[in-house]
Order: sequence, then C-alpha cells, then structure tokens
Amino acid sequence: MAALTRGDDGSAMIAALLHVQDHLRCVAASGSWQVFSSVPLGRGIVGRVYATGQPVVLSDVTEDPDFIRLGADVVTEICVPILDNTAQPIGTLNVEWTKQVDTDAWRAVLANVGAQLGARVMELGGPPAETRGEQLLRHSLALTEAETDADVLVRVCRAAREVTGLAAAVLLRPLEPGTGIELAASSPEERDRPLIARLASAPLDQLASLVDRAGRYGASYSLGDPARLNAQGFEALTEAGVRTMIAVPLGQGALVALDEGTTVPDLGTVNLLELLAAQATTCLEKLATLRLLHHQATSDPLTGLRHSGPFNTRLARSEPGRTALLAIDIDEFKLINDTLGHAEGDRVLVQVAQALQKALRQGDELFRIGGDEFVAVIEVPSLETAIALAERLVEAARGTGRTISAGVAVQKAGETPVQALHRADRALYRAKASGRDAVQVAQ
Ligand code: GH3
Ligand code: MG
Repeated sequence: MAALTRGDDGSAMIAALLHVQDHLRCVAASGSWQVFSSVPLGRGIVGRVYATGQPVVLSDVTEDPDFIRLGADVVTEICVPILDNTAQPIGTLNVEWTKQVDTDAWRAVLANVGAQLGARVMELGGPPAETRGEQLLRHSLALTEAETDADVLVRVCRAAREVTGLAAAVLLRPLEPGTGIELAASSPEERDRPLIARLASAPLDQLASLVDRAGRYGASYSLGDPARLNAQGFEALTEAGVRTMIAVPLGQGALVALDEGTTVPDLGTVNLLELLAAQATTCLEKLATLRLLHHQATSDPLTGLRHSGPFNTRLARSEPGRTALLAIDIDEFKLINDTLGHAEGDRVLVQVAQALQKALRQGDELFRIGGDEFVAVIEVPSLETAIALAERLVEAARGTGRTISAGVAVQKAGETPVQALHRADRALYRAKASGRDAVQVAQ
C-alpha cells in the first residue's frame, strides 16, 4: 500500500477487501475519510470484480452506474481481484484517484499487486474469520427475518451453535406444570445431532431445574470435566454425554448450547448467547404483536369472530363435494334493538355467536359477515351431516332464548364457493319465509 501511495500519485485512495462470510470486508484502506467497513457480495464495482474475477478500469467513474461516490472528487478508478494460488478471487483491491492517470500502466501494476497480495494472504492462512461481532450481527439480522415462532427458534438454535462454537443447541421449554420439559426448536438438522437425540430420550423432567434456574438467576455455564466437578442434578445431561454447557433464559425456557468435548466457556461467549436470546425474545414479541394486530384487523371486536377478509380466504380453500356453507341470520333481531335497546342487541349478538361457536365441531369455522348474519364453513362427508349440524346450531340458539334461521348448501362440482353461498342465502330466505327458527336446504 505504501508503494502505491508513493511516487507520482500521492492522491490515490486505496481499499483492500477480503471475502468474509457473506460480504467483502475492508481489511486495509488509505486516503479516504469515509471507508465502507464491508460491502455486501455483488454490490458496487468491488462486488462485481469479486464476482467476475475481472478487473474494472474507469478513466471516468461517472460512466459506471455501480460506482459509489464517497465524497472526494474521484475521477479514475481501477479495481482488480485479489487472487489465491489457484487464481480464484478472495477479495478485491480498489484504487481511486482525483485526477486522470495512466490507466494502462496502473492496471498492469495493480493486477500484479492483487496476485502478490493474494498469495501473501493465503500464506498467512487466508482471509480472516468472521469476528464474533459480525457473527452476532448476521444472526441478529437473520432472526428479524423469521416469519414464524418456530422459525425464530430454529434460527436462534443454529446461531447459538455457531456463536458458541459448541456442537449443538436446543431450546428447553417447560410443558404443563409438573409434566416435564420439551426439547423445542430443533430443526431436523439439529435433532439429528447425536447429542440432541440422546438428550431427547433422557428423562427430561430432570432438566427442569436447569430451566428453572435460568429463569430465576439468568445465564450459567459449565466449568470443565463433570466427573471431577459437582454435577449433581444434571445427570440427564451428563449421561447423554454432555461435557460442556451454556444455558441462558429465553421466554419461559432456556436456550442451551452443548458439547461432548470438555471446555470452559468464557464469559464473552455466554454474553453473546444472552444477546442472541434477547434478540430472539424481541422477535417473538414482534410476531405476537403482529398476530394480535392481524386478529384485531380481521375480527369483529364485539363477538371476536373473524369477518370478510378471513372469510374470503377460507372460501378460497373450499372443496366441492365436501365444503358446506351454513348461512345464518338471527330472527327478528331489529325488534330486540327497537324494544330493548342497542346495548341489549349487542349482548344478544355475543350470546348467539358464543352458542353457535360452542355447538360447532373442532375445525368448523364461524364468521360474522354482517349485522346479525353469520356463516359457518364446515367440511362434511354428506349433505345430511351439514343439515344435522345446522339443526344443532338452531337448537343451540334456542338455548339463548332467541332463534335463528339457517340455509344449508354443499358446494357442488363446477360451482364456485360464492355461488354455493348464494344458494345457502336463498335457502335462508325460505327458512325466514316459512316462519323462522328453522333450517332449509338449498335447491
Ligand atoms: P329477520 O328475522 O327477517 O332477520 O328480521 P331482523 O329484524 O333480524 O332483520 P334484519 O336481519 O334485517 O336486521 C338486522 C338488524 O341488525 C338491523 C341492524 O340495525 C342491526 N344491527 C346490525 N349490526 C348491529 C350491531 O352490531 N349491534 C346491534 N345491536 N344491532 C345491529
Ligand atoms: Mg335478522
């Protein structure tokens, strides 16, 4: 680098970047006030040079849309790959000038420097390992991208394994009080690790004290050979072959990193695991909030039943010959409002909704699609089952002191769910016309 900045070009701004994990890390730089500490793979000119292995020579940087200006009045840029002994890029060497230079001459010089630099880097053991900070950052970002609770837990276990360098990681979670501990958050990748497999068949209730202590007092770790230390109470772990352990609280459980080798984890590693667990907790809380907001946005605040959005989503999953739609409407509901007041009307709506919900089977779904209108979407083997269920709902409504009318339709082959719903609606009107408190089957 010193050689480059000497001579006729004191103005050169130089950056050497090496490929570390998923980015190009700047390992040496001179001449710029602002230097990117790392560049995502494929980004900018350096990313392109790394990806293609081909130098880029720009006598006018404005010609290249990938050029990223860092303040100074850069005019010329040459970027060459840093090559290992097999001529594979391991990084890039980027040089910029604030004036025109002899690009042909510099290109030849820099190509040579890139090759020599690469050979020297390989001699010294290759590009540097990812720092623990970089590792933590990468895993934290990956956690925030998880879309489900299960995904958060799988990712935090993977991160725990990598960050601690231990062989396996698992989330231990208490089951119902007194029924033991569950080995949650094991991806197939994780479950197949021999240590986890052995632990899964251990008497898991023995691990309860580990989880309990993590919850009460925070992180803990092991101090070496369990044969020479007091490992009483942890037989489930030691008999499964665990010789090193770090446990940190995560929600109601404990995130535990484990190894069959005997080491003494350092406090820094324990802290990293705590940070990961905290990050995972934040992600789980975020997902819970999103679920709540989604529920609030798609549900009726009065009855708690879902309305049009989820109803249409459910209809889209209907199966001709199996999906039945029960259109339901409360009888003489306006009268309740008019005679007993709107508040009493609201109470009736809630009571009827709860009674209907209770009378439905597991997996049946009830939606409030209008003022006093509901639709139950159910899967049935035959029309008879659908009719029987509708009768049950009418009976359940009577139990609240009110009555409902219902129309039943099973979606036919070649019919859309919306068409089936129209038939159920027409049947409902016939039930109303026939005197209410009744079920009618669609034609
Ligand atoms: P029918 O037996 O023919 O269904 O007669 P009905 O009186 O029930 O007539 P309809 O179904 O048309 O009446 C629905 C009424 O429900 C009209 C509207 O004022 C009332 N309503 C709609 N939403 C609410 C609500 O959230 N709370 C209350 N209290 N009333 C509502
Ligand atoms: Mg009504």
